[in-house]
Amino acid sequence: MLEPFSMHQPRSAGEASAMLSHFGEDATVYAGGTELLVVMKERLAHFPHLIDIKRIPGLADITYDPERRELIIGSTARHRDLERSPLVRQWLPALAALEASVANVRVRAAGTIGGNLCFAEPHSDPATLLTALDARLTLTSASGTREIAMASFITGLMETNRRHDEILTSLAVPESGPRTGVAYERFKLHERPTAAVAALVTIESGTITDARIVAGSVGARPQRLPDAEAMLRGQSANESSAWLAADLIRMEVETTSDAFESEAYKRQLARTVGYRAIVAAIRQATGADGSRHAA
Ligand SMILES: Cc1cc2nc3c(=O)[nH]c(=O)nc-3n(C[C@H](O)[C@H](O)[C@H](O)COP(=O)(O)OP(=O)(O)OC[C@H]3O[C@@H](n4cnc5c(N)ncnc54)[C@H](O)[C@@H]3O)c2cc1C
Repeated sequence: MLEPFSMHQPRSAGEASAMLSHFGEDATVYAGGTELLVVMKERLAHFPHLIDIKRIPGLADITYDPERRELIIGSTARHRDLERSPLVRQWLPALAALEASVANVRVRAAGTIGGNLCFAEPHSDPATLLTALDARLTLTSASGTREIAMASFITGLMETNRRHDEILTSLAVPESGPRTGVAYERFKLHERPTAAVAALVTIESGTITDARIVAGSVGARPQRLPDAEAMLRGQSANESSAWLAADLIRMEVETTSDAFESEAYKRQLARTVGYRAIVAAIRQATGADGSRHAA
């Protein structure tokens, strides 16, 4: 059962931040509530004051900035909004596909992208792909805004760089360049992902010229895999290269143990989904999947 709490509905991120400062540790941000209310029902934490940010005008907007070639996603955009957004489907189809496979439709209809990132539960999807896409997050407080790379936002198991009085207001996701493929593959044994890899590869004349590989859900936080990335650069864009990189993923990925899967098993899963993600990204970059990025 939930203990009593007061709900506050600020009209701006600055006002929400001021409320967080005013109530201190007695208050927290409330978005879709899909994580927070479970935590409170289980009595793992109690907040007498919830700051509901969903009524803040514009905070759920999804827009495209043609000058910067970036998709701007408001933090209270729900998974369902992202899955269905024509802009996300057009500019970041890998993100639209990922969002369509988050949880179930009830969670997607309430849960927000901002809540997902701020909760920083390792068994989640968006942070892994957004790290590979070099996304940047905007945090707003009563004293101003600051921008932080997605890659530096999550610092550990359910830990982020966000200060208590900061609201995650939006994400900027750069469009990937020409001859570049982006793919996200995950393996799911339970409700949430068990292992996931996001791959971004750029190909010139059949050779991989750039690669970003990020593993998620197997460790405490999403992690770039520099050995696998370095191995791919300069290689022919084919399945053999993907297997070589996948072997490195298994070796270099940092895993955490839990009650369900051994670390060795997680490494093996990371290798398998890593291979699939790299091959899918290569196929997209070369147009072999019928997409527009042909190298
Ligand atoms: C059954 C189930 C299955 C799931 N499966 C998946 C899955 O397959 N893949 C996946 O990725 N996720 C999965 N999830 C997680 C789901 O995506 C998150 O629960 C959801 O996105 C969290 O968003 P929310 O708006 O509900 O956050 P809330 O519960 O409202 O908030 C979560 C935390 O973030 C803080 N917060 C929220 N928004 C902000 C903000 N803008 N600024 C600062 N702090 C903020 C809150 O204070 C709280 O600490 C699953 C969840 C459930 C319940």
